[in-house]
Amino acid sequence: MSDRPPRLGDVIDDYCPRCRLLLNHDVASLTGDMVAKVTCRTCHNTHDYRQAQVPAKRKSKKDTDKKSLMDQVLANMAPPPAPPPLPESPLRKKRDLWAEVERLKKK
Ligand SMILES: [Zn+2]
Repeated sequence: MSDRPPRLGDVIDDYCPRCRLLLNHDVASLTGDMVAKVTCRTCHNTHDYRQAQVPAKRKSKKDTDKKSLMDQVLANMAPPPAPPPLPESPLRKKRDLWAEVERLKKK
């Protein structure tokens, strides 16, 4: 980063509100030595220079809202029916078999 003041047409990084990305911008307007407006090199949208600050994502908040709404829906739903009884597990059978073996050994 050079120390010279920005000039019109300089390429700088900034957040483009249309692309919603940090992208290359052309300096479009200056206030003294400060960049006032920039033009996105991707969508050619001119907007106020944002000091390359990416705004807090609104999307994540929306996701949280959506999630809490989903939780509400789930909370209002009837509890799911009890699962059907599990068939005899092979592990249990095996254990029973070993118990049987032990019982036979003791004889
Ligand atoms: Zn853009």
